[in-house]
Amino acid sequence: MCSEFVQAGLVDKVVIQRLVMTKRKQVAPERRYGRELLRAHELLYTSPKDGSLCSLNTNSPCEMCVDCFLYGFAAGGGGAQKSRIWTEDAFSILPATDILGDRTINAIYENGTMRLKREEDTKASTSLNTSEYIKPGVHFLDVVTLKDVTADELRYVIGNILLTTRYGAVSSRVGRMENQILGIFGSITELPSSLELVQATYDALEQPLEHPLNIDLLIAATKKVISTWTNKRGVSMQLSEEDLTNLITDVDRHWDAERDTFLKRLSQSYEPFRQPVAESKKSKAKNKKTVEAES
Ligand SMILES: [Zn+2]
Repeated sequence: MCSEFVQAGLVDKVVIQRLVMTKRKQVAPERRYGRELLRAHELLYTSPKDGSLCSLNTNSPCEMCVDCFLYGFAAGGGGAQKSRIWTEDAFSILPATDILGDRTINAIYENGTMRLKREEDTKASTSLNTSEYIKPGVHFLDVVTLKDVTADELRYVIGNILLTTRYGAVSSRVGRMENQILGIFGSITELPSSLELVQATYDALEQPLEHPLNIDLLIAATKKVISTWTNKRGVSMQLSEEDLTNLITDVDRHWDAERDTFLKRLSQSYEPFRQPVAESKKSKAKNKKTVEAES
């Protein structure tokens, strides 16, 4: 459970502690969602380094799949691809003290008690403790920047965001979240930060604020704040409500009825960048093998 002390609003300068949804916690499950489908449609490649199928956090990315091209990779055979999906920490609107609860966890042993009966092991289950949890219905605001993406890449990333429902370490039990896209902008620079968005929205909401927030009021306040962003330097346009709805309908269609065609077309679009790398890697690998065989 991460939190930071920050100013409540841009106008309201009281310092409060906000819950933070770290960028790592956001991007990893979203990538995993897309990769699950890439795998299902056989669009993951084998790593040139050790021949295993491309997977996250293994130091041997394939450097050829949609995920590697879009979200980047660090390790591998010398090369690196920077991510074109820039995320930030997302902040809760309300202070941490309002949205955290305590829950006692009793982890009992198979004998149905808190203790194992063996004499040498009289320690009580260490799982008996209180743990903090985030109350249901908490809202986080966040800005994501997509850099130099094609139309299909835009569909891919938005699909990952809209279709990911579980975040955090023990995601089979907790961490359910629903993402909503409130605005899409075109710009030659980054939009205001997630923190600035949260602070401006906090100012725009009618005080006093209490958990749970009314989502309609929150969405209205957020949209009011972002509608001023086209006045900022470098931000040239915001999609209208109609265009935004159409775009999301388009993304849904591509991820549903047209998924196979869509994912294959997107994967195919990297072919010109893929070939030279694949060739040079292959020949390198071959040479290495030959040398090994000879020695
Ligand atoms: Zn890959």
